[in-house]
Amino acid sequence: MTSTLPSSLPSRATAPDAGPSPVSLRIRERLDAAGVAYLANDNISDHLAPGEMEQLEIEVAGKVRELLRSLVIDIDNDHNTEETAERVARMYLHEVFKGRYHQQPKIASFPNVKKLDEIYTVGPITVRSACSHHLVPILGNCWIGIKPGDRVIGLSKFSRVADWVFSRPHIQEEAVMILADEIERLCEPQGLAILVKAQHYCMKWRGVKEPQTTMVNSVVRGDFRHDPSLKAEFFELVKQQESLY
Ligand SMILES: [Zn+2]
Repeated sequence: MTSTLPSSLPSRATAPDAGPSPVSLRIRERLDAAGVAYLANDNISDHLAPGEMEQLEIEVAGKVRELLRSLVIDIDNDHNTEETAERVARMYLHEVFKGRYHQQPKIASFPNVKKLDEIYTVGPITVRSACSHHLVPILGNCWIGIKPGDRVIGLSKFSRVADWVFSRPHIQEEAVMILADEIERLCEPQGLAILVKAQHYCMKWRGVKEPQTTMVNSVVRGDFRHDPSLKAEFFELVKQQESLY
């Protein structure tokens, strides 16, 4: 991954007599000093120094190994869980929570030379996340409606930015808001509508064990917010797209 770093990055902090401090502690201290939030659904890639992801992988694997030991699993003799700690560390840092540690995929926007102003929708886009409360999967579909403004981005880019935003521990309501913020920043549409329909495994797999329940939520901004007919058109288009699948 690439990252840009503030020039004021402190040199590696070391604990007085316990050897080098954990890399996560150094990163947290750096974020605290800069007054930067690092909640579960924040991206911290701008504040990671080269080589720190590799160090995080080692640190997280060590903690997962301890978790497995605390769960009284014999990882030294169980061939199935022998390397689980390393797999889990890589999965969190580079796959399911990559949206916290990796930079946003490069997304070019282009001037809207034809002055397109008809609304269009993209979807269903598959979204995969995990609930912040239990770290179990949230899997669903997302539809994005755009009334173009001065800039446009390619259709596939909506999938890329949605994947990046959702690949963090979330609650669904906040995931949709963060995705809306990112899309507004990328193409400054006159109107934006997003609808997400997702299954929450913390309801299906545990707790009330309710397998059929889905959560649907949406955010509407700009012209979609001010013009009820435009909003209705978006939901109608989504309904048509959904019935195709
Ligand atoms: Zn949960």
